[in-house]
Amino acid sequence: MNVHEYQAKELLKEHGIAIPAGHAALTVEEAVEGAKKLPGPLYVVKAQIHAGGRGKGKFKELPEDAKGGVRLAFSLDEVESHAKEMLGNTLVTIQTGDAGKQVNRLYVTDGVDIESEYYLAMLVDRATGRVAMVASTEGGMDIEDVAHETPEKITTITIDPAQGFMPHHARSVAFALGLSGDLNKQCQKLAKQLYDAFTASDCDMLEINPLVETKPDADGNASLLVLDTKMSFDSNALYRHPAIEAMRDETEEDPAEVEASEYDLAYIKLDGNIGCMVNGAGLAMATMDIIKLNGAFPANFLDVGGGATTEKVTAAFKIILKDPAVEGILVNIFGGIMKCDIIANGVVQAAKDVNLQVPLVVRLEGTNVEAGKEILANSGLAIVPADDLGDAARKIVAEVKKAA
Ligand code: GDP
Ligand code: MG
Repeated sequence: MNVHEYQAKELLKEHGIAIPAGHAALTVEEAVEGAKKLPGPLYVVKAQIHAGGRGKGKFKELPEDAKGGVRLAFSLDEVESHAKEMLGNTLVTIQTGDAGKQVNRLYVTDGVDIESEYYLAMLVDRATGRVAMVASTEGGMDIEDVAHETPEKITTITIDPAQGFMPHHARSVAFALGLSGDLNKQCQKLAKQLYDAFTASDCDMLEINPLVETKPDADGNASLLVLDTKMSFDSNALYRHPAIEAMRDETEEDPAEVEASEYDLAYIKLDGNIGCMVNGAGLAMATMDIIKLNGAFPANFLDVGGGATTEKVTAAFKIILKDPAVEGILVNIFGGIMKCDIIANGVVQAAKDVNLQVPLVVRLEGTNVEAGKEILANSGLAIVPADDLGDAARKIVAEVKKAA
């Protein structure tokens, strides 16, 4: 689960991490009120969407040369005019896709005088089974570009969970960022605080881009500040963190995925044209693979789970069919706990309920499979039966081609 920048920053603050002051706003008035509480005279008005690249993003409704989703403001009037331009409009960034995301929330922060920008991130590295810290002097840039063009500028430090975060890890991070003196000390402290925040809240990703070094103040002191952050959490651990769960913003999620989660269906939208309804995550993965092997692409991953009831199957059909790209559906269900005849009844009822117009191939296997096949054959619906997984995939690909 992802959260907004301002929410992630609230969490980091609880761990003593230095963050520029800021206030979230849902309206133009709230944005101005938030700015009034800041010292000024420099403010930053930031669009809150679950995607990066906002600064360089473009608003669909605004002229091509209009500013992006992260804007400096030098007065309260400017905060107001930026807020007016951004709220309700659609921001397109390299991470949102062409559709973009509507900006419903803003974050007004204290503007920082930046000396340099760095990159610091943490993630669960599945290859090593450890938390990896990734540091680079190339902050503010797209890290994928840095990795591609100048991989030597990225340092990865892995932390053994049994040992925990050690002082040498902190020194390595500060060294990788080329920091010396007091900034080096600040960085070591920050790295430990970030690791604690990461593990305490069951994060799976925490990215700070940029981490900034401020211009020295009148006394010559500079500090490290978290200017932008993205955090995502392990959904399976959310039950341990009700406060984080409460930060969920469903308007940022795919509506079909939100609906699916209400029915306890695991649904992920993909780019192809063949809808899949499968029980069991492994079988669902295999089904997607075999569709690809036959030259087509799955429109979704959908696991209806062990108890594939008529209600669940109906809900699943409706969710699949909401995707206008779907030109055919492949149902691949193994009747283990559920019996095939019960599943077949569910499929027939659901296909009638949703007035199914696209080709449907059904492959059933398992307990009472013969009875199940008979129900499908006698349903009066144009259901194409399949004997095995390969047969099912070939048939749905052929049916979709025929219908096109
Ligand atoms: P992103 O574009 O979604 O990654 O949003 P960021 O919060 O990273 O902002 C993009 C860029 O705007 C940063 O890399 C900075 O260069 C600039 N920026 C953001 N906040 C400030 C600020 O307080 N002061 C200054 N001078 N620039 C800022
Ligand atoms: Mg950023």
